[in-house]
Amino acid sequence: MYNSKSRIATEFIDDAEIKRTLAWAEENKNDLETIRGLLARAKDCKGLTYQEAMLLLECDDPQIHEEIFTLANEIKEKFYGNRIVMFAPLYLSNYCVNGCVYCPYHGQNKTIKRKKLTQEEIVAEVTALQDMGHKRLALEAGEHPTMNPIEYILECINTIYSIKHKNGAIRRVNVNIAATTVENYKKLKDAGIGTYILFQETYNKESYEALHPTGPKSDYAYHTEAMDRAMEAGIDDVGCGVLYGLENYKYDFVGILMHAKHLEDTFGCGPHTISVPRIRPADDIDPDEFDNGVPDDIFKRIIAILRIAVPYTGIIMSTRESKEMRAAALHLGVSQISGGSRTSVGGYAEEEPEEENTAQFDVEDNRTLAQVVDWMIDEGHVPSFCTACYREGRTGDRFMQLVKTGQIANICQPNALLTLNEYLEDYASPETKEKGKAIIAERLEMIPNEKVRELVREHLNDINEGKRDFRL
Ligand code: SF4
Ligand code: SF4
Repeated sequence: MYNSKSRIATEFIDDAEIKRTLAWAEENKNDLETIRGLLARAKDCKGLTYQEAMLLLECDDPQIHEEIFTLANEIKEKFYGNRIVMFAPLYLSNYCVNGCVYCPYHGQNKTIKRKKLTQEEIVAEVTALQDMGHKRLALEAGEHPTMNPIEYILECINTIYSIKHKNGAIRRVNVNIAATTVENYKKLKDAGIGTYILFQETYNKESYEALHPTGPKSDYAYHTEAMDRAMEAGIDDVGCGVLYGLENYKYDFVGILMHAKHLEDTFGCGPHTISVPRIRPADDIDPDEFDNGVPDDIFKRIIAILRIAVPYTGIIMSTRESKEMRAAALHLGVSQISGGSRTSVGGYAEEEPEEENTAQFDVEDNRTLAQVVDWMIDEGHVPSFCTACYREGRTGDRFMQLVKTGQIANICQPNALLTLNEYLEDYASPETKEKGKAIIAERLEMIPNEKVRELVREHLNDINEGKRDFRL
């Protein structure tokens, strides 16, 4: 029986309720009056239920699609302005005991080179990331009790936060590691992580079990209930995601919104972020083996409807997607993107030799961070290296409160301008610097609160004079 507040995975993600929702949406997809009513109501940024969101996704009227895209863009602008937060993944180790059939790190893959970064290598990688201008990392590691125990992850986090090189600093470390115990989540919290990220891959239990035949990850309930344990341990910010292409996208679209509702109903705070990865080629992995591929036009609608349904949740898109898809997605509600990413273990300090490929997937957008930043400015976005909320203790429901009342817009934009100015001063080419300074000057005048505007103007000057790390 469906119960959004249950602590049992199969009750808060209820298969029968998902199937009922899909059938109802299919039956009502031509009810344009109801759909237009939903869109009108969603303008108030209070979100949509999973049923309502699914009805929007099922609708095949091209005019409605345009209305969805327009509304998603409006909501994104309202909450976050035109800032886009930048991050990079750092793969620590590809040793893994699980058998995920879509991932080249699966334990049975004998062709991929296995690698685990030493603390010295992490110093070199993070120094290279700092020299690119990154301030926010997402750590990635396979699940392996002896090669990547929690102590190793904690040691890596500690090393990363301690590296101070020129004006560089990693100010927020997000962590994407396997589902674990409340005790281990407490250790991650104490180590000062930002978001704990764990992708569900698919919410369909039957498919999940087929896709994860061996290893601890094969336990659907343990994996699906992981965010509950993380929140119990005091980690306020959790990041969800499904891997589109594994299962019918409609099922997983409803599933992820049910998960968000469960977290909101149970802990008073939905997911901090939702990622939208699609399956990509990799060593030993052929995406054509998975016949649930999501075409670009539907993928764009998924992103836009997520933005409308959970307006307070950040949406993350990685370099799995092409420049063209990322350009479109930035106008549909994506609020964070990675740039200059390496999906191999290491690879920032030194390019990995081709024959030693340790990548988890092929990157589609191969541009450097400098190129991505330059392009975003050309597209009218403000690339942001902001990590302020987490460092100011604005996590979990304190953060959600700010977003839900629209106050975050007054904080995000100033922080985006300050951190972009740091980037321009420390890392940008003269051409990017010139364009970036121009967008800062233009956007500074648009900060509504006069006092905040003055403060930002002062700190921009401080940054020009060599001072660093101002935040609101
Ligand atoms: Fe291991 Fe994660 Fe890859 Fe599964 S998806 S094989 S758990 S690294
Ligand atoms: Fe993110 Fe908060 Fe910075 Fe806005 S102000 S970009 S929400 S950390």
